[in-house]
Amino acid sequence: MKNFKDIPDIRKLSDEELFDIDVVARVFPFKTNNYVIEKLINWDNIPYDPMFILNFPQKGMLLPTDYDMMALAVLQKDEQRITETARKIQYSLNPHPAGQLEYNTPTFHGKKLKGIQHKYMETVLFMAKKGQTCHAFCTFCFRWPQFIGDCNLRIGTNDIKTTIEYLKEHPEVTDLLLTGGDPLVMKTDTIEGYILPLLNADLPNLKKIRIGTKVLSYWPYRFLNDEDSPQLLKLFKRIVDSGKHLAFMAHFNHPQELSTDEVQEAIARIRDTGAEIRTQSPILRNINNNPKLWSAMWKKQVELGCIPYYMFVVRDTGAQHYFGLPLVEAFDIFRNAFNGVSGLARTVRGPVMSTTAGKIQVTGFSEVLGHPVITLAMIQARNPDWVLKPFYAEYNEEAFWIDDLIPAFGEDNFFFEHPYKRIQYLSEEYIN
Ligand SMILES: *Cc1c(COP(=O)(O)O)cnc(C)c1O
Ligand code: SF4
Repeated sequence: MKNFKDIPDIRKLSDEELFDIDVVARVFPFKTNNYVIEKLINWDNIPYDPMFILNFPQKGMLLPTDYDMMALAVLQKDEQRITETARKIQYSLNPHPAGQLEYNTPTFHGKKLKGIQHKYMETVLFMAKKGQTCHAFCTFCFRWPQFIGDCNLRIGTNDIKTTIEYLKEHPEVTDLLLTGGDPLVMKTDTIEGYILPLLNADLPNLKKIRIGTKVLSYWPYRFLNDEDSPQLLKLFKRIVDSGKHLAFMAHFNHPQELSTDEVQEAIARIRDTGAEIRTQSPILRNINNNPKLWSAMWKKQVELGCIPYYMFVVRDTGAQHYFGLPLVEAFDIFRNAFNGVSGLARTVRGPVMSTTAGKIQVTGFSEVLGHPVITLAMIQARNPDWVLKPFYAEYNEEAFWIDDLIPAFGEDNFFFEHPYKRIQYLSEEYIN
């Protein structure tokens, strides 16, 4: 699709709405495809359709002053000014959750392993170089800077050999997570170049290979009639036959994404290989902030043989003001949705913030000796001793993220923070 204005149904939008897309797409990356346009978006329901909001830039994603600034530049058709304005706005939206990249990058024999992250003891992330894009872009994407050509954030690697050496020296690692962007934009030949050496290496402790991807949602043809679909499914089977667990970490934001014949057939084919599909999504205002929708989504996933895994909180970058929800609201939605499904879907954990310290779950609200608090615990932590240790914040209906919360009972810090300084919760990556 060269220009979104060539999409036939886009004429259902007013000129003003088309202009808004044009303006916002100068700041946030925009990419769509025929499957999303023809099978996911309900064009009778635009501009409110959640799949439309998921994929097409929205006016509300820019703060009013930023919108006005960019609209003016676009009206003036001043390319230099457009570029400068875009950069200015982008840099004001916390594009570089600072330190994130260096912070989790492991060192091997004195050398930083770029494109690898090792934060939680048992899992290593491998960001494949050619997988640093996606079939379509989510408007809420937290990796948005890497799609607008920010080279600093294109952090992928091809070096599976050194990764294997690293894994040999780290027998505590049981899981390798292949991530992106979306690693399944890569050709199967390329993926094999990473996976086969892993299978052939002597890594008895590496029991699980995970692939984090949104391909089922944006391009289920990857398993149906892409040229190398059979080869990809064969590779999956080969991983399973080698005795490793293959965890397909699928990203679904809305039940609509599970409704097409294409996605259902793709899920069946993946399951046929012996891979398990686990699912995750952030909770997003304007797209899925509704408990019934989440119950329906988890039920459908279980029905299709997928295992609900994480509900994330939208991180503090980009258009968080448009997609974010207060933590207490996110928790209410989680609880009501959880209540609407049987135990088979209650494998899901949420709402979870992925922070520098660890994955922090909002576990509820309570009153302790008459004092209203939000209760929290870590599911994963940089320091394993922190896991599942309950902690408390002052009740706050306006907090969107952990650093909006204040420790309860007059404490200066949460237990895992530096005693004199509240650490910056540089929020981290992680959906795919
Ligand atoms: C979420 C995450 C993982 C995986 O955590 P699990 O709870 O095992 O799924 C691994 N590494 C990083 C950096 C993460 O954010
Ligand atoms: S990295 Fe994930 S969240 Fe971002 S555009 Fe790709 S699929 Fe969407």
